[in-house]
Amino acid sequence: MKAIRVHEFGGPEVLRLEDVPDPRPGAGQVLVRVRAAGVNPVDTYIRGGGHAVRPQLPFTPGLDAAGTVEAVGEGVERVRVGDRVYTAGSLSGAYAELALCDEAQVYALPERISFAEGAGVSTPYATAYRALFQRAHGVAGETVLVHGASGGVGTAAVQIARAAGFTVIGTGGTDEGRRLVAEQGAQYVLDHHAPGYLDELTKLTGGRGPDVILEMLANVNLNKDLGVIAKGGRVVVIGSRGAVEINPRLAMARDATVLGMMLFNASPRELESVHAGLVAGLEAGTLRPVVGRELPIASAARAHEEVLKPGAYGKIVLIP
Ligand code: NAP
Repeated sequence: MKAIRVHEFGGPEVLRLEDVPDPRPGAGQVLVRVRAAGVNPVDTYIRGGGHAVRPQLPFTPGLDAAGTVEAVGEGVERVRVGDRVYTAGSLSGAYAELALCDEAQVYALPERISFAEGAGVSTPYATAYRALFQRAHGVAGETVLVHGASGGVGTAAVQIARAAGFTVIGTGGTDEGRRLVAEQGAQYVLDHHAPGYLDELTKLTGGRGPDVILEMLANVNLNKDLGVIAKGGRVVVIGSRGAVEINPRLAMARDATVLGMMLFNASPRELESVHAGLVAGLEAGTLRPVVGRELPIASAARAHEEVLKPGAYGKIVLIP
C-alpha cells in the first residue's frame, strides 16, 4: 500500500509517500481501508519531534481516518467487513491506504456522514466534547465562548454546545471564518482580532461573562479570558503555542478555574463515553464536520503547512 512515511523528525519536507507492506490484523484488531484522513495541528507537532508523543522512526503520521472495514482479526465483535467507520487513533498511522487499528479505536460512521467528513470527527470532536463536558462540566443553559471557533475543534465545539442547549458565542479571524461559525449554530460571532471585541462579549452576556471558555490560543488570550469570565466560570486550555503572563487576581475575583486538557490523557472509559455522545450526534444530524479542503495524500507536506496558517476554515483532509 501507499503511505506517508517519516524517517526523521523535522519540517513538512520529511513527509514522503512510499510503498510499504499491507498491514494484517491480529487478534482484536481491525484493518480499515482509508477513504480520507484528517489533518490536525498535533500531527505537525509529532512530525517535528517536539511533542510528548514521540513515535519510533520510521512511522506513518495521522490519528483520524474514515473508511470501510477491510478485514478483522480473531475475536473482533464491534464491526464487520464492509462497515463504514471512523478511527480514533490507529496502530499504523492514518495517512495511508490502509490503517491497522485496535478494535476500541474504530467507531461506526453513520451513512449520512461522508468519508471526508468522517475524517474530521475524531480528534476535533472528541477534544471539544471532552473540554465542554468532562473538563468544564458544562450544562445546558450556560453560555460558552468558543475562542477560536472557525477551525476543526472550534466548529465541532459550536455544533456540540448548540445541540446541548448552551448559548454559544464563537470567534473567527476572517469574514469567511465568522460566517462559517454562524452557520454552525453560534448565536453570536465576534472577531478575535478586532479591538474591543471582549467589551462586545461582556455586553452580549448582559455584563455577566461566559460561564465556560474553550480556549484555542491560550498564550494570547488566557489573561483576557480571566478578565471577562463569569463568576464560577471555567476556562479550558485546549490550544497554546507559547507562554503568557496572567494576573491571578482576575481569577480570584471571579472564583474562576483554569483547566488544562489533553485528549491523549482521556482514559479508555472516558473515550468510550465521548464517542458514544459523538456517534449519537452524527446519527441525529446535529453534528457534521466541516471539510474546508480536500488534498491528495501526496500533498501531506502542503497540508501540514496550511493547517498552521491563520484563516482557518473547518478541516483539511487527505485523500489516499
Ligand atoms: P485549526 O483548525 O488550525 O484552528 C485554529 C483556530 O484558532 C481557528 O479558529 C483560528 O481562527 C483560531 N485563532 C487564531 N488566532 C486566534 C486568536 N488570537 N484568538 C482566538 N483564536 C484564534 O486548529 P484546531 O484543530 O481547531 O486546533 C486548535 C488548537 O487546539 C491547536 O493549537 C491544536 O494544537 C489544539 N488542540 C489541542 C488538543 C488537546 O488535546 N488539548 C486537541 C486538538 C487540538 P482564525 O484562523 O479564523 O483566526
